[in-house]
Amino acid sequence: MSDQDQSQNFRGGQGQVVDPETFRDTVGTMDNTGKRKWVFPKMPNGVYTNYRTIVAIVLLILFFIIPFIKINGNPLILINILDRKFFLFGQPFFPQDFFILALGAITSLVFIILFTVAFGRIFCGWICPQTIFMEMVFRKIEYWIEGDRNKQMKLDRQKWDTEKIWKRGLKWSIYIIISLIVTHFMFMYIVGYQEVVRIMKEGPLANSTNFLVMVLFTAAFYFVFAWFREQVCTLVCPYGRLQGVLIDKQTINVYYDFKRGENRAKWKKGEDRKAAGKGDCIDCNQCVVVCPTGIDIRDGQQLECINCTACIDACDEVMVKVGFPKGLIRYATEDEIEQEKPFKFTTRMKAYALVLLAMIGFLVFLLQDRGIMEAKFIKPAGSTYFVRDGRISNSYNYTLLNKSNKDIKLSVKVISPSHGEVSMDGSQFIIVKRDQITKGTISISFPEKEIALSKQNIEIAVYNEKGEKLDEYKTYFEGPFKLAF
Ligand code: SF4
Ligand code: SF4
Repeated sequence: MSDQDQSQNFRGGQGQVVDPETFRDTVGTMDNTGKRKWVFPKMPNGVYTNYRTIVAIVLLILFFIIPFIKINGNPLILINILDRKFFLFGQPFFPQDFFILALGAITSLVFIILFTVAFGRIFCGWICPQTIFMEMVFRKIEYWIEGDRNKQMKLDRQKWDTEKIWKRGLKWSIYIIISLIVTHFMFMYIVGYQEVVRIMKEGPLANSTNFLVMVLFTAAFYFVFAWFREQVCTLVCPYGRLQGVLIDKQTINVYYDFKRGENRAKWKKGEDRKAAGKGDCIDCNQCVVVCPTGIDIRDGQQLECINCTACIDACDEVMVKVGFPKGLIRYATEDEIEQEKPFKFTTRMKAYALVLLAMIGFLVFLLQDRGIMEAKFIKPAGSTYFVRDGRISNSYNYTLLNKSNKDIKLSVKVISPSHGEVSMDGSQFIIVKRDQITKGTISISFPEKEIALSKQNIEIAVYNEKGEKLDEYKTYFEGPFKLAF
């Protein structure tokens, strides 16, 4: 059976060819009864595949080494949702910085929108972890064990003999091991590598909950990459669903040049195709059989297309063989194909870029203005003042958050009104460890005559050893009720 004959020869969809008029009504990997059509993509090969492999290797290396990289003793990236502790580029962030993180997330979203408007789904094909793990790790193992498309299809049809049991068993075992490794590294991004190593050393019995979570995540990874596969992109991922509203005729995407390609017709050696009214597409179906989402790019832009470039490489190879110029399938805009208009930076793109620049500017300002210390002095609920030796005292619960990479020795002073005295259980300083929150209680007193109101605003500040003010906090001070005449 040739590749062409097998172009739509998916599991459960024998020989079905999608009607060009109705292909948008259905998902490429399901038959009319809703049953899964298993995709056996041919191994891609070519310039874009090589570049994508390099990008994938770099990203995979980064994924596996980032948990071990530290800046000033802090992890490069740590997203500890459980303990509400976050590190980005070695900088600690706390729940108190949530608005900065939220703004950072919104800025990233605007960036993705802008990028998608201009460059389509480049993210999906080149950077998305789903594509990288699926196409560059799990699929490669599949090719290595089961062979290319035709061999995989043959093995799939084959009864469960020794060869099939051995090959599938080996593949699934390796998939489980990789899923386990990926899960462990994912957890390093959440709790840090030291914690993961500790849990591993102590064993599953000593950490039954962690062990169960690891097993569940490993099973989820295995399920996604062994079975669910391209359906993450075609059925689940919200980013794919957004394409319809984000891309337009000026967006760069993987396109089939239908003007050049049609009328498609089989290759006949020595034929003058132009004179015969035939286009450059020789209807070899190589672009279809190579597609990991099981679509035919010649039907036009489809949300299933993850811009993986496999069809570009496949078609270029064919074009070289038949002596036509490369690029029948290429990165282009719809306007470029239909009207031969070059890529243009549209008003919509400019507007998004302006919004993005403003948000980045605001984010940078917030990060610079963030300071290294956050101090809060809150009166305990139900507490009241007390009077001793001509002074009125109030107690305050303090929360001191050190966002820097150094321990800080703090002194606390009342800066308004004057004559306020701070008492800290006989100590003059509070030591707040790096990346830590320190809590405690202090007492503040004023001479009786200074407190004219039963509730008076005061301002408290914290200073480092060099006498530099690191933060200040406004609160109130309670005194005896006085009648005003
Ligand atoms: S149509 Fe081409 S670029 Fe799109 S997913 Fe299929 S092979 Fe990849
Ligand atoms: S690979 Fe190129 S020539 Fe072959 S069917 Fe696809 S578009 Fe046509």
